[in-house]
Amino acid sequence: MAARLDEKLEPIFQDVLHRNPGEAEFHQAVHEVLETLGPVLVKYPEFAEKKIIQRICEPERQIIFRVPWQDDKGEIHINRAFRVEFNSALGPYKGGMRFHPSVYLGIIKFLGFEQIFKNALTGLPIGGGKGGSDFNPKGRSDDEIMRFCQSLMTELYRHLGEYTDVPAGDIGVGGREIGYLFGQYKRITNRYESGVLTGKGLDWGGSRARTEATGYGTVFFTQEMLKAKGDSLDGKTVVVSGSGNVAIYAIEKAHQLGAKVIACSDSGGIIVDEKGIDLDTVKRIKEVERRRISAYADVHKHARYVEDGNIWTVPCDVALPCATQNELNGSDARTLVENGCIAVAEGANMPTTPEGVQIFQEAKLCYGPGKAANAGGVATSALEMQQNASRDTWSFDYTEKRLEEIMINIHKSCYETAGEFDAPDNYVLGANITGFIKVARAMDAMGLI
Ligand code: NDP
Repeated sequence: MAARLDEKLEPIFQDVLHRNPGEAEFHQAVHEVLETLGPVLVKYPEFAEKKIIQRICEPERQIIFRVPWQDDKGEIHINRAFRVEFNSALGPYKGGMRFHPSVYLGIIKFLGFEQIFKNALTGLPIGGGKGGSDFNPKGRSDDEIMRFCQSLMTELYRHLGEYTDVPAGDIGVGGREIGYLFGQYKRITNRYESGVLTGKGLDWGGSRARTEATGYGTVFFTQEMLKAKGDSLDGKTVVVSGSGNVAIYAIEKAHQLGAKVIACSDSGGIIVDEKGIDLDTVKRIKEVERRRISAYADVHKHARYVEDGNIWTVPCDVALPCATQNELNGSDARTLVENGCIAVAEGANMPTTPEGVQIFQEAKLCYGPGKAANAGGVATSALEMQQNASRDTWSFDYTEKRLEEIMINIHKSCYETAGEFDAPDNYVLGANITGFIKVARAMDAMGLI
C-alpha cells in the first residue's frame, strides 16, 4: 500500500502508468520518488513549469536487442537484452548489467530510474542507466558465459563509450563477465578504452576496492545512521540476505566494525550460524566453487540450513537486504520491528515493498533506502573511471578511504535535506530530494533537451 501523491504529482504518475503498461517495478520506483517531491515543487515552482519531472520519468533512449548464442552441445538459444540510457544530465550513463531470467524492460527501467538519483547523490559526474538480459547464467559453463557475453557486446558496443555509456556488473554479472564483455569491446573497436566498463580485473584497469565497494558502502552508511543516534555497529547482531557480491562484502565490513552476522541466504534457502558466519567458507562456496549456500552447513555442522526459509524471521539488531527487489514485504517488516531490529540499510535495489517501508518509517527505526545506502558501488566505479582517465592506480586503503568519505557525505546530505524539509530522520525523502534537485538543476541549465 503506497502513500497518496500530491495533487500536482498524481496526473504525472497516471501518465507514467499509461505510457508504460505492465511495468510494475518501474511504477513502484517512480511512485516512491514522487511521494516525496510535493514540497520540492512548492519551493521550486519552475521545475513544474518546465516539466522536469515528466522529462526525468521518460528515458532518453531505450535499446532492446536479440542475443543469439550457442551452448556447449551446439544448441542455439535466443535471449533478449536491454540498455536503458535514462538520464545524462550529470555525466555519461552509468549503471550495471543484470543477467537473470526475471529481467524484462520494467526491471531495467526501475533500476535505471533509481540509478539517476543514486548517481547524483554520489556527487560524481555520472548520469543514470541500466541494462541486462533474461539470460540465466546458473549452471552454464565458462565457455557458454563467454559466448553469450561476446554475442551481447557485438550489438551493445555501438551504444557505449567512456563519454557516452559505461556499464558495470549487477546480479549475475561479476568480474568474469566484465572480462568477456571488455575483451569483445576491445576486439570490435580496436581501442583499449578502459573507461568503457567498470568492475574490471585489477591487472587490466580495475580499481582496488570496487569488488568490496557496494557491501562496504552499505555498512558505512549503516554506521552513520547509528552514529546519528549516538549508537554504533559494535556488538550488534546482523542478518544479511543474499550471498553474492554485495552480501559478502557487507558481511566482511560488518565483522570488521565489531558486529556479528548470524545469517545469510541465496534463492534456495537460508543459513543461520549463531557463532557468526564464517566468511571464508561463503567466499569459497560462492566466488570460487559457484555452489549453493546449503553447502555451508556441510562444513559447519553447528549451523542450520533452512530450505526456502525466511531470513527476516531471524531476530537481529540490524537487517541488510542484499539480494533482490521486493524481497522484504510488510509482514517481514513487522516481524523485524517486533523482534527489536533498530536499523535496516538496503544493499540491494528496492528490496523493501512500499508497505514494508511504511512500517519501518512508522516504527521510527533507522531505514536507509538503496539509492543512498548502496551508492558506494557506483561511486567506486566512478573512481575507477578517474584512475583510468589519468592512467593511474590507487592503493586499496586510499580507495576505501575515498569510498568511506563519499558514504559519510551521502548520509550527511540525506540527513540535512530531511531536516530542511521538516522530515527529520526520513532518509527516503532526504535521498530523493537531494538527488532530484541536483539532476533537475542541471537539466534546467541545459535548456529543453
Ligand atoms: P549477485 O548475483 O552477486 O548476488 C545476488 C544474490 O541475491 C545471490 O545470493 C542470489 O541468490 C540472490 N538472489 C538474486 N535474485 C534472487 C531472488 N529472486 N530471490 C532470492 N534471492 C535472490 O548480485 P549482487 O550482489 O551484485 O546484487 C545484489 C543486489 O544489489 C541487487 O539488487 C543489485 O541490483 C544490488 N546492487 C549491486 C551493486 C553491485 O555493485 N554489484 C551495486 C548496487 C546495488 P542465487 O544465487 O540463488 O540467485
